[in-house]
Amino acid sequence: MAEKGIYTKRNDGRKMDEVRPMSAKVGIVPSADGSASFQTGKTKAIAVVRGPRTLHPQHMQDAKTGILRVNYGMMPFSVEDRIRPGPNRRSEEISKVTEWALSSVIDLSGFPNTVVDVFIQIPQADAGTRVAGINAAAMALAHAGIPMREMVSAIGVGKIDKTLVIDLDKYEDSEFHDGEGSTDIPLVMTSRSKEIALLQLDGKISIPEFKAVIEMGKKACDNILKIQMDALKNITGEGNE
Ligand code: UDP
Repeated sequence: MAEKGIYTKRNDGRKMDEVRPMSAKVGIVPSADGSASFQTGKTKAIAVVRGPRTLHPQHMQDAKTGILRVNYGMMPFSVEDRIRPGPNRRSEEISKVTEWALSSVIDLSGFPNTVVDVFIQIPQADAGTRVAGINAAAMALAHAGIPMREMVSAIGVGKIDKTLVIDLDKYEDSEFHDGEGSTDIPLVMTSRSKEIALLQLDGKISIPEFKAVIEMGKKACDNILKIQMDALKNITGEGNE
């Protein structure tokens, strides 16, 4: 491992700007309106879309547009310590930020008084679950035929001690506190306008480092977009056979 305060070698042998092995599938839940999965390393996310359906209770309806509702949750067996089922502060925050990121690219004006539900579940978690969930959800929305101005692709970037890194795993996300600690930046990019649809920052980073790490993230998002588009072209229909 690295000398104190300097992170020179990644635990799993990756280069600093190298993501984990990634894969995606669309159509994994045939009974849903749209569904997809996205995996990076040991982190796996499943997203299912239901709707648009009439929103109840009626007083929550918007006569001008449909609304998006995201529900993110980690499965009890997704990490070594059992996760308590049901919502908590973290899952509610992730559901909300995912809702904001996806709302920036979908157009539900053609579906007044309705709701589109996106259910994101994490069967395996090794950090980066919110960005994996957003990648899966974007594909599931496209699969459901929800009008989208463009796609979104997401990645975690950050800094471990003094080194900029991409796609941190749980070990990197938590183990490095002998130097400057680790900084975690989930980033969501839009596919065409190349705008940032969501950015969160947990930790410290200088402005030049921040700019460099965002560039690293943008490049990775371009590759993730290809993985998403390939999966959308090859819908599996798993379970339909
Ligand atoms: N984690 C955990 N138990 C929890 C919440 C999170 O073990 O109750 C782990 C899990 O591997 C998760 C990682 O911590 O992926 C990082 O969580 P964070 O809140 O930073 O969100 P994420 O990186 O998954 O989007």
